[in-house]
Amino acid sequence: APVIDLTGITKTYGIGTPVETEVLHGIDLRLAEGEFAALIGPSGSGKSTLLNLIGLLERPTSGRLSIGGRDTATLNEAEITQLRGRSIGFVFQFHHLLPAFSAMENVMMPTIIARGAADDEVEATALQLLDAVGLKAHAHKKPGELSGGQQQRVAIARALALKPRLILADEPTGNLDTHTADDIFALLREFNRQTNCACLIVTHDPRLAARCDRIVRLVDGQIADDLPTA
Ligand code: ADP
Ligand code: ADP
Repeated sequence: APVIDLTGITKTYGIGTPVETEVLHGIDLRLAEGEFAALIGPSGSGKSTLLNLIGLLERPTSGRLSIGGRDTATLNEAEITQLRGRSIGFVFQFHHLLPAFSAMENVMMPTIIARGAADDEVEATALQLLDAVGLKAHAHKKPGELSGGQQQRVAIARALALKPRLILADEPTGNLDTHTADDIFALLREFNRQTNCACLIVTHDPRLAARCDRIVRLVDGQIADDLPTA
């Protein structure tokens, strides 16, 4: 089964209020294991809304949404939370690291939340992940002691901690200079190739979109085109 399988997805905000608005109008989208797709489109076209639905942070108004082969309509809130935690790694522009905790502790956090405790193995895995993103020597620094690019690398290590089958990234390179953005993108690409996870990346950068396998373009809440890159 595809990792992402959407059929006829709509999303309406403000139902029952005077400002009721449908912002997604019947989205059909499939993403297979190992696929690395860019999601592009003008501001306000519905990219974040779509990412939030796929990330199980919000529910669609209508349509069918399956993630990792599970039809989410049949799942209750606890099951949705579990599916989200087990299958999806999130990387955001403003990485939401916990400022009071070290890079290492931030990377361990999803595992601690999922399992209720950390052991030597969780620590070893976190250190391996920080090593993979080139930050082993900075494992004990707090986010405030790291550069923007380094913080985003910690966020990527954290997103990978539970070996997600799907990575969702909302402008992960948005606030970074070109060189650092390229590094962050390359890192995501490398993990995609190593683990065969599916990746959907919102980006405004046409250079980075061109380096994905596929470009899905949203316009006014509809998929305007969905094309493989050359
Ligand atoms: P993009 O990420 O492409 O900029 P968004 O998904 O953020 O687009 O927004 C799509 C449309 O939905 C916009 O018109 C936006 O104003 C509207 N919208 C987004 N979130 C909400 C919300 N929580 N309530 C009402 N309208 C929203
Ligand atoms: P990157 O290319 O990963 O963004 P930089 O070359 O900008 O990293 O940063 C190099 C070093 O400077 C890092 O080891 C980091 O600890 C330090 N540094 C950079 N920016 C900041 C910052 N805003 N606050 C504290 N330390 C920083």
